Formats: sequence, structure tokens, C-alpha cells
Amino acid sequence: MIVGAIALTIFLFDRVLWPNRYLAPWVFGDAFYQVQTDEKVVALTFDDGPDPRYTAQIGQILADAGAPSTFFVMGRHVEQHPDIVQTLMAQGHELGNHTWSHPSLKAKSPATIRQELEATDDLLRDLGYTEAIPFRSPLRPQLVHPCPTCSNSGIRPTFCGRCR
Ligand SMILES: [Zn+2]
Repeated sequence: MIVGAIALTIFLFDRVLWPNRYLAPWVFGDAFYQVQTDEKVVALTFDDGPDPRYTAQIGQILADAGAPSTFFVMGRHVEQHPDIVQTLMAQGHELGNHTWSHPSLKAKSPATIRQELEATDDLLRDLGYTEAIPFRSPLRPQLVHPCPTCSNSGIRPTFCGRCR
């Protein structure tokens, strides 16, 4: 009986609630999961960079293809490779905040989360990025609210399926 109830709960969560999570921001947080459009489009996003081996090459290939994408960068990597981030900006790509050091935010204090986000945002601003900066939580997406600090700071997170 208990096993059946657990299985039903998991099934309902996986098949009903989670796929429709964008309809319940009071439960899951106010985050982008998808954008309604009649166009046949995809959004390409890349996490954890900039990486000196690949990021600039990927950015150039996408720019040549006319496919501006979003690069969710880590602050500590931006600090090491600011030239790559400036190249991405020149190529017309969007930049997103993927925290400073890629920690799991589940057990972090609001002050720590705020520091992770603001330090990365500040560095991107120092490099001249003036557009809105979306945020993507590192590691597993938060199931209930991605980041209480985000709503207090006016940050709307975007979700990745899973990021390690
Ligand atoms: Zn990541």
C-alpha cells in the first residue's frame, strides 16, 4: 500500500506537476522553463565557462551561423579569462550568471548566495556587459524554489535539466 502511494506520488510529480512547473511559480519559483512562441526555435545555452579550450571556438561557430546563444558563465572563470567573455560579447551572445564558484545552493545562506551572484554580475558589468543577466543555478535545479535570494534581488532564474 505504501509502496503504491509512493509510486503514484512519483508518477504524478514526474508526469504532471514537474512538466507544468512553469504554471505554478508559487510552488517552484518564478523561473523561465520555456517561452511560448509560434516560431520553430530553440535556445542554445552553455554552462560553466568560459573555458580557454572551447568557448571562443563555440562562440565563433555560432556567430558565423547567425545563432546567438546564452553562455552561463562562472565568475571565477570569467576572472581568469575576461578576454573570452569580451569576445562572446563582441560576437553578439548573451551572458548569464552561473554563480562565482558553482556551489550547490541548497544549503547556502542567503548572504552566501547573494555574494555568489553579485560578484559574478559585478564582474560582467566591469567588463562592459550592459544587458539583463539571467541566472542559472548550478548542479541540480532546485525542486521547490530555485533560490529565495533571487526573488528578493529581482533575479529570474532559468533552469537547466542538470548540470554537473
Ligand atoms: Zn554548471
